[in-house]
Amino acid sequence: MRLHLTCRMGISVAALFFLGLGPGNAADSLNIYSARHYDSDELLYDGFEEATGIPINVIEGEGPELLARLKTEGKNSPADVFLTVDAGNLWLAEKESLFQPAQSKILDERVPASLKNPKNLWYGFSTRARLIFVNAKRVDLKFVTSYESLADPRLKGKICMRSSSAIYNLSLLGALISRWGPEKAEKWVRGVVANFARAPQGADTTLLMSVAAGECAVTLANHYYYMRLQTSKARAELAAAKALTPIFPDQDGVGTHVNISGAGVMASAPHKAIAVKFLEYMAGEEAQKIVANANYEFPAVKSVKLNPELQALGTFKIDPANVSVYGQNQAQAQAIFDKGGWR
Ligand code: FE
Repeated sequence: MRLHLTCRMGISVAALFFLGLGPGNAADSLNIYSARHYDSDELLYDGFEEATGIPINVIEGEGPELLARLKTEGKNSPADVFLTVDAGNLWLAEKESLFQPAQSKILDERVPASLKNPKNLWYGFSTRARLIFVNAKRVDLKFVTSYESLADPRLKGKICMRSSSAIYNLSLLGALISRWGPEKAEKWVRGVVANFARAPQGADTTLLMSVAAGECAVTLANHYYYMRLQTSKARAELAAAKALTPIFPDQDGVGTHVNISGAGVMASAPHKAIAVKFLEYMAGEEAQKIVANANYEFPAVKSVKLNPELQALGTFKIDPANVSVYGQNQAQAQAIFDKGGWR
């Protein structure tokens, strides 16, 4: 049985190790710190264990908690791999020098250069697109075609958004800063804020439900939250999905903003070779299929076939920017959000 601990339990890893309970330094195991919380991750861990016979121990927690823990544990950390969503979160770990490069021909070949750290400190294994969702009963679809169009005054009083401290929004603005420069990015933030129907609140799913219910007419959300509504067994969620129109922003321009889920090998990994093997497994055929089938994310490896629901969402043009710029622009993005009044 896999050992699962949550970071919130407040038990030190050293204590668990001492008791012989925790992720330890056994020669043939892998210790993952994960800030992802998807059911599909269990399938990935099972798949790796079956393929290699190497047991996985997982410590789950929120990204900031796990990062704080990794910093505190320092060189004595039992962690081999840090797994998380959003290149902005991977960058936070990179900034603290928590990763070491994974030298791997398999990873070099399979993971596209735009979805990994240029120094091989972390790799993306799946992508998520940040789409605009519209209630077509409440707004003319032709006004909403791009991220830029969200600042169009014709959308006044129609937009609801998640807070600016949400990493998904920080990374999006980070990407827009690279595209447009900081001045235009700030002007855009002011324009979007002027169109708010209400102060920022809620997470992606809440916002989708608000748009479907007509509380507001336009929002941004990652595509898989919409896919979950679309494939839900709950009637209200299915109805919400029907009331939403997904828009792939910037199809006439640079393309839609995508982010990643990814992982890197810890600088102090007790099991470096196994950690690299795990990253290679994540980029492999089996794991890539699990990613696409179980959580509706797009596989990072292009040759992997999409599941029918993802195929039905349609193909779209993707912003080819390297995801590593999101983190580099993160502090500036937060400053611009703050200045522009997007709380
Ligand atoms: Fe998410």
